[in-house]
Amino acid sequence: MCGIVGYVGPQKPSTKPLDVVLEGLGRLEYRGYDSAGVALAAPELDSIAQAKKSGKLVNLKEELAARPLAQATAAIGHTRWATHGGPSDVNAHPHLALDGKLAVIHNGIIENFFHIRRELEEQGVTFTSETDTEAAAHLLGIEYQKSGDLTEAMRNVARQLHGTFTLLAVHADHPDTVVGARHDSPLVVGIGDGENFLGSDVAAFIAHTREALELGQDEIVTITPDAVHVINFDGETVEPKHYTVDWDAAAAEKGGYWSFMAKEIDDQPQAVADTLLGRTNEKGDLVLDDLRIDESVLRTIDKIIVIACGTAAYAGHVAKYAIEHWCRIPVEVELAHEFRYRDPIVTPRTLVVAISQSGETMDTLMAVRHAQEQGAKVISIVNTHGSTIPRESDAVLYTHAGPEVAVASTKAFVSQIAAAYLLGLYFAQLRGNKFRDEIQAILAELRDMPAKITETLNRSGRVKEIARWMADTSSVLFLGRHVGYPIALEGALKLKELAYIHAEGFAAGELKHGPIALIEPGQPVFVIVPSPRGRDSLHSKVISNIQEIRARGARTLAIAEDGDTQVEAFADEVFWVPQCPTLMSPLLTIIPLQIFAAELAHAKGLDVDQPRNLAKSVTVE
Ligand code: GLU
Repeated sequence: MCGIVGYVGPQKPSTKPLDVVLEGLGRLEYRGYDSAGVALAAPELDSIAQAKKSGKLVNLKEELAARPLAQATAAIGHTRWATHGGPSDVNAHPHLALDGKLAVIHNGIIENFFHIRRELEEQGVTFTSETDTEAAAHLLGIEYQKSGDLTEAMRNVARQLHGTFTLLAVHADHPDTVVGARHDSPLVVGIGDGENFLGSDVAAFIAHTREALELGQDEIVTITPDAVHVINFDGETVEPKHYTVDWDAAAAEKGGYWSFMAKEIDDQPQAVADTLLGRTNEKGDLVLDDLRIDESVLRTIDKIIVIACGTAAYAGHVAKYAIEHWCRIPVEVELAHEFRYRDPIVTPRTLVVAISQSGETMDTLMAVRHAQEQGAKVISIVNTHGSTIPRESDAVLYTHAGPEVAVASTKAFVSQIAAAYLLGLYFAQLRGNKFRDEIQAILAELRDMPAKITETLNRSGRVKEIARWMADTSSVLFLGRHVGYPIALEGALKLKELAYIHAEGFAAGELKHGPIALIEPGQPVFVIVPSPRGRDSLHSKVISNIQEIRARGARTLAIAEDGDTQVEAFADEVFWVPQCPTLMSPLLTIIPLQIFAAELAHAKGLDVDQPRNLAKSVTVE
């Protein structure tokens, strides 16, 4: 999510700081963004020179051609992926403070920005953007005025911020310095000769140097042309780890991954963590992003219809189990293109939840409009700020998955589940279905999930091996019950999309009603096994299903929870996931299936990022 570049060096024609930063931003384009900007400091400048534009880098370059900036000795550059405030020129970074003497860029989400902003506004500070970042910029200005030391000011700011952030700052009075801070967002240092670099990843400076320093969590870095100084948030000096990058500019495009999809699969812990950030107000109550209807109207809702297509519809299907369980509101899940044409029963007390990664899915947009015409209220769950569906909805819950480039959705899917769960908890709170501490307990379970997703990703060696062995398989079936059922459907969809082979997902209980006829010796079947610690009958029914298909010669590949002592006896292969509550398990059980599909397609020599016949965002009906 978002790209950051920082540079300090001599003022010489061969390395113009602005060019270094623009080139770095170009190499970080793969991360995806919606706006770009730069800020420069130079000895002869009294204040920061800056330019920023929404849209692609080319817009910024056109702006710079029309309005050239002075040469500089320190420069920072940013490509923004909007999380707070739409993708506009004014919301683009840098954000200035101290009457234009200080510039800040930021990657991440500042969870307590609202609180900081209100306090600063009470002190007379004027805000010009809707971003969370601007609060950090003004706070840094105030801290700087206390000490006149940019590094110390940054340390004091970092200690006051909650959320995830990489911050870079330049000050007009220190034109040989860039200061950065890192907390749960990426930042690396590039070591040059008489020049130094900062970047979201090494791609930012790979054209200039392969010598890099790794920054740890909660560290502040100060670079000048001849020195790099790192301290932690407690002010103690830290010796950063040096390494030499072993890949070149060409591989930089995907951050060193073999495909965007592989990268996005690995992004999932962060995507879920970011989606959960910044969701509570000062009282600790859950809030939606853009609420344009009265909460009293939402209290009267008597039915929820989730409308979506493809993977997003499966995320909705998972959410149905949770929302009905927590809120006792009936939830239907409907494909957007079917919803419109079946004369659905929609009343002013119906809430439509529209799920779309891009916010531009035409089928979903048309269904949203159709529902609104009939008086329904619409809340959307969308990843792309400023897109059409959230603009037309009554309220929005943005997933903060960052840009998803691969056509087959992965990190958007898990973020959609997390966001839909937040929506379910919001309703439980609004309607009084759950006590505050019950909601807090479920939120805590959700917040445990990113670490468990990481753990699941770390165990992916075996599933990759099996996928490669199975490269010539012509058909794979997937079975699941309860929340495992939509995961079976999504696992099958991933395989169809990426590997172009027959794949089908079934509710495990449906097996005997037809699909079991498909089982013949050697047929591979993935089975998502519910937790034995959950509802007893659910687990034992699925174990029986495994036995039924195994008796008919199926090759059974189980996805099961650590500590399940029964499954091993019946499955040919078990992919283990960490223990978690049943409703949270889809965030883990989908991971081996995503990896399986990507690896199998890769082994077949297929392009996993752009499968044939598919488009990332389906903007036609
Ligand atoms: N939260 C910040 C914004 O919306 C930064 C987003 C990013 O990482 O690009 O401007």
